[in-house]
Parts: sequence; structure tokens; C-alpha cells
Amino acid sequence: MSAANIVIALTKGRILEETLPLFEQAGIVPGEDVFTSRKLLFDTNLDNVKLMIIRGSDVPTYVEFGSADMGVAGKDLILEYGDEGFYEPLDLKIATCRLMTAEPIGAKPARDRIKVATKFTNIAKKFFAEQGKQIELIKLNGALELAPSLGLADAIVDIVDTGKTLTANGLEPKDLIAEVSSRVIVNKAAMKIKNAVIRDILGKLRKAVENKHS
Ligand code: AMP
Repeated sequence: MSAANIVIALTKGRILEETLPLFEQAGIVPGEDVFTSRKLLFDTNLDNVKLMIIRGSDVPTYVEFGSADMGVAGKDLILEYGDEGFYEPLDLKIATCRLMTAEPIGAKPARDRIKVATKFTNIAKKFFAEQGKQIELIKLNGALELAPSLGLADAIVDIVDTGKTLTANGLEPKDLIAEVSSRVIVNKAAMKIKNAVIRDILGKLRKAVENKHS
């Protein structure tokens, strides 16, 4: 019997640069240069494995609905999408960063109902609700760091790595919402139907992560 066909959705951009070496160690190599090609679906050295290379925010959707059997996405995007629609069996420990709230440096304690600008609206809603804080959400897709200085928001919820972007815009990190890294997610039906192949890939990726950190 031939091995089941597997489509793996990878997040494009800088996460991909850290993802591909782990996949290579796990024995999965794209058939052509994914950084210069405009294709979205790539053959690999394995006849039964294809790679989709798409926006990170679309990976959970493709995996939940089974167009991709497996995927790699940042924990930030998984939390924002909701993590019930698929399994999350492996932390690749790459593209690490933190999801944080941030406010203007030296800002006075917030008023009753603060305005929070973010692209992570579900995460922000849940976080502030758990803190018992009333907020007004302002959805932005970029240049969030400008929102406080322009009077659009009192605080933001964003990804922080070195913190340089915040400092450069007169902001400081406040509360940690979640530690973020890239995770492997798996479609629930595929995990059953294609269990042997998926378990094999997961095992090899797990070893690649362990080798990198040993
Ligand atoms: P930094 O100035 O180093 O704190 O970087 C902050 C900006 O880089 C954020 O606004 C993010 O857009 C982006 N960023 C940093 N790390 C990541 C990551 N692992 N995944 C996605 N975006 C990131």
C-alpha cells in the first residue's frame, strides 16, 4: 500500500526561513526554491508530501477544514483563530516572541474603559475580560504602534520581540499575554485517517527540534 498523501501548510515570510531547516532535518525538502517562486503549492522530495506556502493567518483555516492535513503557524495566530478545530501536537520552538499589552511610556493608570488597538481582537477581548477590565476595541492591521501617539488608543496588544519597535514609538511593554512560538497543527480527521504518515512526520520533526536544542 502506498503512503497516504499529505499536504502541509507552512507560514511564509521569516517563519519559513526557520521552518525549512527543521523540515529538511526531518527529510522533507521542497522541489524548488520557495523563496523565489510565486507558486503556492510545492512538490517535495517525497512523492506523497506537498507543501503549501501561505499567510500565517490562513494556516489554521486550511488545516481546520482539511485542505491541508498539517500546518505550521505562530501561537499568536492560533490563539486568535481559536485552537479547538485542530490538534496542536508539537512546538517547533522557532520564531519565538511575546504577545503583550503596551502603553505610552510613563502613562497614568488606565481610565475605566480603555481604548485598545490591535489586530488580535479575540485575544485582547479575552485577556481584558479575564482581568475584569472594560475595553473598547479598535481593529487595526498594521502600524499599531502609532495609535496611542495619535490619540486613537490608550494601549495596544501586539507582538514584541526585542522591544525596539515599541521604544522607537514611545511605548513600553506592560502585561504578558502569551509566549509565542511556531506550532505544528494537525487536522482532526487526517490524524485518524492518515495516522501512520502523520505520526512519522511528527516524530521526525520532534527529533529535529530536540537535536537543535541539545
Ligand atoms: P521588536 O521591535 O523586535 O520587538 O519586533 C516587533 C515587531 O516585529 C512586531 O510588531 C511584529 O510585527 C514583528 N515580529 C517580531 N517577532 C515576530 C514573530 N515571531 N512572528 C511575527 N511577527 C514578529
